[in-house]
Amino acid sequence: MRFTIWGSCSGTEPMPGRHHTSWTLEQNGEITWFDAGENCGYAAHTAGRDILRTRRIFITHSHMDHVGGLLHLLWAIRKMTTMRPETPSFTVDVYFPEMQVYEGLMQILRCTEGGFEGGYTIRPHLVRPGTLYDTPELTVRCLANHHLDARNQPSYSYAIRADRTGVVWSGDVRTWRDTEEFLREGCDLMLMESGHHDPAVVAAELKGAGYRIGNLLFVHHGRRILYDPYGQLEKIRGAFGPNSQIACDGMTFSEDDLAAHRL
Ligand SMILES: [Zn+2]
Ligand SMILES: [Zn+2]
Repeated sequence: MRFTIWGSCSGTEPMPGRHHTSWTLEQNGEITWFDAGENCGYAAHTAGRDILRTRRIFITHSHMDHVGGLLHLLWAIRKMTTMRPETPSFTVDVYFPEMQVYEGLMQILRCTEGGFEGGYTIRPHLVRPGTLYDTPELTVRCLANHHLDARNQPSYSYAIRADRTGVVWSGDVRTWRDTEEFLREGCDLMLMESGHHDPAVVAAELKGAGYRIGNLLFVHHGRRILYDPYGQLEKIRGAFGPNSQIACDGMTFSEDDLAAHRL
């Protein structure tokens, strides 16, 4: 099992060496995506990943820094099916919070070559709180958070269990407390967004809350981390401990790394 951070940035202007939010879980020869910020498909393909192994994509909310690369990812997957026509047909399940937005994206794809017909099947699912995906190897649950006004636009956090590894992915949140329902269960890894928060304060509050968080990884960086990553890391580790880290683009780690706090 391998985790990779493809984009570690929040919705800033373009930043050198960093892209908008996206990460993957590779397990049993399949790729599961969480958010799809710009560049994610390009980054994964050029890093040598076989994006034809993509089987599911979970989106937290419809902001550009989380969906800006979804179209290109889906397009690049189809492109690769034309490059390798011997690939058996497969389905990619897309879990999207707003069907109207999803339909708009699909409309753009249908304007591309061949009406985007063939190659593989995309199967959409509306994200709702609760269990979205449940097999012995992989479970994905979701809860509504307070990043956005839910009456106008939904936003979600995810709890993932891949084999024996438990992950909490905050998505964008108003406060880390939005994810408390999942944190109460404990997790091996918390991916916490730092774009809307002071990460050192969050690290101290999470430590003080006493939940069992094996590793704390900040993603979706805002300017505090972008402008001073080493200074912020020192503060974060001072508050939470050595099992805390700041993500960068292309960072990969395994379940063994998580067990050994080797992020
Ligand atoms: Zn964001
Ligand atoms: Zn957002």
